[in-house]
Amino acid sequence: MGLLWPDLLSFFALSVLLVLVYVRSRLMNIHKIYVALHFATLFWPLGHFVSLSADDPAFRTYGMQLAVIAFCFVGPGWLLLIQCLIRPGWRPTWRNAAMFVPALLCAAFVLWNPGGALVTPGETAGAWNYGYLFWGLVAVLFSYFAYSMYRLFQALVRDANVHRRRQWFLPLLGMILLAGAGGLDLMFNVFLQGRMPEVEGLTSLGLLAAVPCFTQTIRRLEGSDLLSLARRDIFEFIDTGILVLDANGRILESNRGSQAFVRVKKGELFDLEAFLAPFETQGEVSEFLYRFRHYPSERMQIEISIRNGGLRHVNIQIAPILDDRREVIGRVITFHDVTDLRKLVDDLNRKNETLHERNLELIRTQEELFNANRKLEQMAITDSLTGCYNRRYLMQKLEKEVMDHIRNKVPFSIVLFDIDHFKRINDQYGHLVGDQVLIATVDAVRGVLRPADVLARYGGEEFTIYLPGTRSREAEELARGIMRAVSEIAADVGNEVATIRVTVSIGIVSSENYEKPVEEVRDFLRGLFARADAALYKAKNGGRNRVVVANGMR
Ligand code: GH3
Ligand code: MG
Ligand code: MG
Repeated sequence: MGLLWPDLLSFFALSVLLVLVYVRSRLMNIHKIYVALHFATLFWPLGHFVSLSADDPAFRTYGMQLAVIAFCFVGPGWLLLIQCLIRPGWRPTWRNAAMFVPALLCAAFVLWNPGGALVTPGETAGAWNYGYLFWGLVAVLFSYFAYSMYRLFQALVRDANVHRRRQWFLPLLGMILLAGAGGLDLMFNVFLQGRMPEVEGLTSLGLLAAVPCFTQTIRRLEGSDLLSLARRDIFEFIDTGILVLDANGRILESNRGSQAFVRVKKGELFDLEAFLAPFETQGEVSEFLYRFRHYPSERMQIEISIRNGGLRHVNIQIAPILDDRREVIGRVITFHDVTDLRKLVDDLNRKNETLHERNLELIRTQEELFNANRKLEQMAITDSLTGCYNRRYLMQKLEKEVMDHIRNKVPFSIVLFDIDHFKRINDQYGHLVGDQVLIATVDAVRGVLRPADVLARYGGEEFTIYLPGTRSREAEELARGIMRAVSEIAADVGNEVATIRVTVSIGIVSSENYEKPVEEVRDFLRGLFARADAALYKAKNGGRNRVVVANGMR
C-alpha cells in the first residue's frame, strides 16, 4: 500500500478548499481562473492515489496518467493567475489561449501514452519506467513554472508599491514550495529510483503547502480589486470625516478625515452626547440628541461651530443603515467642514445688505430728484414775484385747448387787466411797495376766480385770465368782481400802514359765436389778444377803472 496518506490528505484538503474558495469568492476573472486551476490540481493526489493503490497494472497506469494531466494544466493556469495578480484589471483574451497550446498537446500525449512513451509500470510495485514523453512533460511543466516565476520576479523588482509587493510574496512562496516538492519528488522517486527507499506523496505535500498560499492571495485580492481599492481610497482620503457605527453605536470604521473632528478608535462606543456636550448651550443640540436617541431610523443633521485653530463650522449628518427588512443595523455619521461655505454665504448676505442700503439710498435720491424736477417744472411756468402762472404757460395752455373749444363750440373768454397809474405807486412809495401791490393784487384776484380759471402775469403790471367755458357776460361779471376785490387792497408802506387805492382797467374778449375753423392757432390767439388789448386800451382811454368787452370774434 505504501504511504498513501499524503495523497488522500492532499485530495480531501484541496477539495474542501475548492468548495470554500467557490462559496466565498465573488467569481471575478481571477477567481474563475483560480477555481479551474484548483480543480485541476485535485487530479494529482487522486491520480497518484489510484496509481499506487490499484492492483491492475492498467489501472495503475491510468492513475498515473490522471495525476500527470493535472500538472499539464497547473502550469498555464498559474501563469494566467500570475498575470491577473501583477496586472490588476487585466482580462484574458483569445490570444492568451496560446499559452495553453503546449499544455494541451502534453495532455493529449499523456492520454494517448503511445507505446508507454509516458510511463509503464515497473517490475516491482510502485516502480515506474519513465519514457521520453514524461521527460518532455517535465520540461514543459518547469518551463511554465520558470516563466511564471520570472514574470512575478520581474513585477516584484519593477513595482514600487510595497502593498502590492507584499501581495506577491505569498504566491511566489507557493510556487517555490511546489516546484521544490516536485523537484525533490523527481529526484528521489524518479532519478534515484531503486537506489533509495521511496518517498511517496512529496508532490502532494508540496501542493498542500502551496495551495493555501494561493487561496490566501486570492482572499486578499478581494479587498484590492480596482473598485474596492477606489472605494477604500475615497473613504480614507476624503476630507469629510466618516464614522460607521453598528446598531449599538460601536465604531466599526472611521476614516482619516474624521480625525480632524473626533478622536475615536475602532471598536469603542461613540458617545455623541459627550462629543456635543460643549455645544449644549446652542439650543438645538439637545433636540438633535433627543432625536438621535429616540429616532434611529431618521436622517438628521446639525451645524456646530468648533474652535479648532480658528472658528470652524461643521455640518454633522447622521444617516441610518437599513437592512432588507428596513431595520436599522447601523449608522453613518459624517462630519463636513462648511466654514468656507458659511463664509461665502455670510459674505453674500453682507453684500446683499449693502446692496439693499444702496438701493434705498438710490430710491431716496430718485425721490429728491423727482421733487427737484417738479419744483423746476413749477418754476418754469410760474412767475417768481407773484406766484401766479407766467405768460409762457398760459400761451402753451391756450394753444393746447383753444382748437378743441372752437371745434366743440365751448365758449371761453380772455380777460386782460392792467393796474392804473402803477408808475405813480412806484414813484411815490418805491419799487418794493410796488412789488407788494403786485402780489396783493394777484392774491385779491385769485379770491374771485374759479378753480378752472388760469391767472397769468402777462408782463409788468398787466395780467391775463383765461376763463374756459365762460361767455362774455359771465366774464364781465367776474371782471367786476376783480375790480371790487382789488379796491380793498392794503399795502404796508414802511413803518406806517397806508391804504393804497388800486384800480384796474379791464379788456375782455370772448370766443362766443365764433364758428370759423381755426387753421393756425397762434394767429388766432394773436388776433384774440389784439382785441383784448384794444378793449383794455379803450378802458384806459375811457377814464380807467372800468371794463370794456371787445366785439365778438368774427
Ligand atoms: P396806466 O394807468 O396807463 O397803465 O399807467 P401806468 O403808470 O400804470 O403805466 P406805465 O406803463 O407807464 O407804467 C408801468 C410801470 O410799472 C412801469 C414799470 O416801472 C412798472 N413796473 C413794471 N413791472 C414792475 C414790477 O415788477 N415791479 C414794480 N415795482 N414796478 C413794475
Ligand atoms: Mg398801468
Ligand atoms: Mg402797463
